[in-house]
Amino acid sequence: MPKLSSEDDRQEVETAVSSGGGFIKLEEGHNFIVLLDEDFKHNFVHWVHVGDKVYRRICRGEIKGGGWAPDICEICALAAEQYELKKEAKAEGDKALAEEYNKRGNSLRAGYASAFLAVKLKTIVERKKDKRTGKPVKKYVPDYDDIEVGKLQLTHAQTKKVLALVNIDEETGELPYDFITTGDDLVNRPLDFIKKKEAKRLYAEVQNIRPAEGLVEFEIEETEIPDITGEFDFIDDLDKVVALYRGEAEGEEEEDYEEQEIDKKAGKGKGVKGRKVKEKEEGDI
Ligand SMILES: [Zn+2]
Repeated sequence: MPKLSSEDDRQEVETAVSSGGGFIKLEEGHNFIVLLDEDFKHNFVHWVHVGDKVYRRICRGEIKGGGWAPDICEICALAAEQYELKKEAKAEGDKALAEEYNKRGNSLRAGYASAFLAVKLKTIVERKKDKRTGKPVKKYVPDYDDIEVGKLQLTHAQTKKVLALVNIDEETGELPYDFITTGDDLVNRPLDFIKKKEAKRLYAEVQNIRPAEGLVEFEIEETEIPDITGEFDFIDDLDKVVALYRGEAEGEEEEDYEEQEIDKKAGKGKGVKGRKVKEKEEGDI
């Protein structure tokens, strides 16, 4: 058993956290991210809350369904049912109940998510003199020696911002950066995900992604690289999840989904769990 008094054990914890496998967290401010591969996974995901448990399930409509497939997906159908109940409650003049069903419907909706293999570099703040004004300014730069390997899970809004770096700008008719012409050019390049909270918004959002001109490469052990191949695999038990939601079945063996949810929210590497972070995922589609 590890001991807090042992420096070796403490060191082991340090490495366990930074060697990744978990989700990379985008903090408010500057986040220097390096994609390790241009391949990514994506799908529409339902997060079904039943009591204190969370069931993460891929929507049966998958990408083609665009997150709404009530004709083929049991969980979308369950969401549609909440909206029907909302209409009925509204017609009967019960505003509070209508609002409750609306909330339930929304929380059952599938949300888009993508996953990339990535490295996050620590951000350091430097004070430098501005060449023009001569005044000291804060500069945020990546620390190439302090890295975290993990899965970068992005919302639809964030994924679109990544894609925009390789898409021709509709207004200018040009690529946003002349040194990025294909998806491959995004790999091994520090990308600064700038996350800010705008006035009137409750949560900080990725406003901009600024790519560095130079490339960087890391030597990462195979074992340190997380596996994202099964990240959005479909699980064929949606009937059961719906029954659980309705209170018509007993839940079992779902502990790991609860952990995944915590990982997703806390965005920490393996071995770190249980810290619930009061932060909402941004950029619902
Ligand atoms: Zn669905």
